[in-house]
Amino acid sequence: MKKKIAIIGAGIAGLTLANFIKKYTDHEFMVYEREESLSLEEGYGIQLATNSIKILNQISFDKIDKEKIFHPKIVDFYNIQNEKICDLNLSKFNSPEVKYTTLQRSTLIEFLKEDIYTQHLRFGKKIKEVSELKDKVLIKFDDNTNDLIDFVIAADGIFSNTRSFFEAKKNEPRFKKAIAARIILNSKSELDINDENISLMIGSNGHIVLYPVNKKKELNMVCIIRCKKYEPDKVKQLIEETVLKQNPKLKNIFENEIKTWPLYFSPRIIPSSNKKVFYIGDAFNGFLPTLAQGAGQSIESSYEIFNLLKNDKLDKENDYFEIRSKRAKIIRRRSNFNFFIFHFSSKIMQNIRNLFLKFLVKRKFFVKRYLGKVFKN
Ligand SMILES: Cc1cc2nc3c(=O)[nH]c(=O)nc-3n(C[C@H](O)[C@H](O)[C@H](O)COP(=O)(O)OP(=O)(O)OC[C@H]3O[C@@H](n4cnc5c(N)ncnc54)[C@H](O)[C@@H]3O)c2cc1C
Repeated sequence: MKKKIAIIGAGIAGLTLANFIKKYTDHEFMVYEREESLSLEEGYGIQLATNSIKILNQISFDKIDKEKIFHPKIVDFYNIQNEKICDLNLSKFNSPEVKYTTLQRSTLIEFLKEDIYTQHLRFGKKIKEVSELKDKVLIKFDDNTNDLIDFVIAADGIFSNTRSFFEAKKNEPRFKKAIAARIILNSKSELDINDENISLMIGSNGHIVLYPVNKKKELNMVCIIRCKKYEPDKVKQLIEETVLKQNPKLKNIFENEIKTWPLYFSPRIIPSSNKKVFYIGDAFNGFLPTLAQGAGQSIESSYEIFNLLKNDKLDKENDYFEIRSKRAKIIRRRSNFNFFIFHFSSKIMQNIRNLFLKFLVKRKFFVKRYLGKVFKN
């Protein structure tokens, strides 16, 4: 039976779900976004592993302009002094149609908005009140419009405001005592790296990830640094004291415009207490960025909801929460573990970690278990 769905939030999760509903079903839906426009900020890179590319190809991601994406095949591990430790071949998870892909977030959002922008997206919408009427949910927005729907899909990010309307239990995101700094580089500058690969430079209390985001090989650089408090005015000082102290030669790459933000994660995975309400993407669970799976999991969770909807199982007893939380736990364990081992400050621990890394990246069994399980190979 035809249903009416409200998707709250036009990020990667909400827009992916909207595309699937539009392409494969007759259900009525609307995406409600709080902001007045989509955030198409240039630069911010995204890595998409094969688990998410396989899904996106079903909504024609394989037709995207190839100049705007890149397919790195290898992750090179370096210490923060830019000395190579080892490398990991990512291409073994690829197939001719489904390849590990890097791109700007704006490229992905542009692609996802194309088919839904005019008819299925409303801006400046923030929920003011919700109530249940028989089998339906009435949502009132603070611009005094409303919508009576069958399902609410909350895709409004890690600080999901939708939760506060439907859930008694809070799940406040926690500050990880770390910040992220992002810079776009036009070239690899004086860095001794291969600009076709993903370069991961690990140091004491901080690490740097660089990867090309298009065929021009513009590089996205993200630097994660541990710190007790997020103080935007003191980020330059923090970079000096943590990263540049370990390798002054990196000074050049921090001269471009830096964007910073604090890192948060969801402390718990909590089920929805309302059969009409589902959480996807970061609203379901926010991960640390150290496995580069946040967007991938947003895409996976959208696809799971779409399949339930398509098979008319969304309002029946379904296993969405069990399946999603099992998957989220796998990703969370690995993201947390990576965060832990990327930041050792003791030289002895760093040396032991590097020995293990060298050994493990060449072990097929380990790579298949550690990453294959995430990339679903
Ligand atoms: C440093 C860093 C690097 C990362 N790198 C990667 C990577 O390489 N690969 C990867 O897969 N992931 C990465 N991620 C994670 C990834 O960006 C996120 O997990 C993903 O974007 C989450 O998508 P989402 O749609 O769930 O939420 P969001 O992108 O947060 O979108 C939520 C949307 O909802 C809107 N909204 C919020 N509140 C309301 C409201 N009350 N009403 C209506 N709308 C609302 C927001 O404006 C926004 O448009 C990274 C994250 C960080 C911090």
